[in-house]
Amino acid sequence: MEKKTECEIVQDLLLGYVDKTLNDESKKLVEKHLSECEKCRQRLQDIKKDIEENQSTQKKEIDYLKKVRRKSRIKAFFIAIGIIVLIAVIYYVIKFIKISSIMNKASKNLESENMYFEQQQILDDEKVAILKLYYKDGKYKQISQIYSDDKIQTQFLKYGEVDSNEIIEIDDINKVVTIKHGDIVEAFNKKDNIKWSRFGTEERNSIVANMGKAFFMSIYTDNYGSNKEYYVLTSQFDRNKRWEIWIDKETGLVIKEINRDSEKSFITGTDIVKEINDTVISYNYEFNVVTDEDVKVPDLSEYKIENVNENFEDYME
Ligand SMILES: [Zn+2]
Repeated sequence: MEKKTECEIVQDLLLGYVDKTLNDESKKLVEKHLSECEKCRQRLQDIKKDIEENQSTQKKEIDYLKKVRRKSRIKAFFIAIGIIVLIAVIYYVIKFIKISSIMNKASKNLESENMYFEQQQILDDEKVAILKLYYKDGKYKQISQIYSDDKIQTQFLKYGEVDSNEIIEIDDINKVVTIKHGDIVEAFNKKDNIKWSRFGTEERNSIVANMGKAFFMSIYTDNYGSNKEYYVLTSQFDRNKRWEIWIDKETGLVIKEINRDSEKSFITGTDIVKEINDTVISYNYEFNVVTDEDVKVPDLSEYKIENVNENFEDYME
């Protein structure tokens, strides 16, 4: 009877014993009893086991919560990636549509059988290079000029016709005419070659080509202080924006191309850069202004005439 009471007392104290919250007196009593009583030792083992199991269950619960949290974090990560990809795709598609529409407008305008085209470039030695094209119903005249000090230094006139194998080239300063024949001449006289736009002719206006452009180029709108708006296209991957073209929104045709820092001049006899300049090329298109007179070969009786054959095989070894 007495012994059973002691067991009960000890068993009441066992939790405190495991938690190490007993005072020394009680602790001694418990330890003394445990050394004598198998039943209470077993009870102590059971309590320890219970606590362990309980802890491991808690650990499992925590692990489970962690797992759930990790899963939701992964899910959020993929949703974020998905949103970014979706935005990139939408951005790309919008760009593709814009570029396709520009190219379609340009192609449509270049289909015209009556157009005037002019290209101007300021060269680094203060000369200006000008190229003019008059095109009417398959016949064309091309004038290349170099101006300096308000004078024309050189002037070449070129007359030809779509798909013909003849070009008449006139050196207007030296009064020399060269009549060229051959397959190089024929290749030059293709319509796409004669009537061109800096940013893509008809044949370059394909879905694949425009997909490439949409990928490699960025596009924005600017009016450059004027009352007209332009599309400005730059290279997507060039942070310094060294290359840009301005496109007329109405016609889709390039009116300006800028290559920054493209012209360098050096202090004579050294590799020290004296000056860095941008190359700016301006383009101008006009439609339905060319007359038959503009594309008519002039009277050549005053000129010295040379005949030349230009074939690809002459340039191959
Ligand atoms: Zn006992």
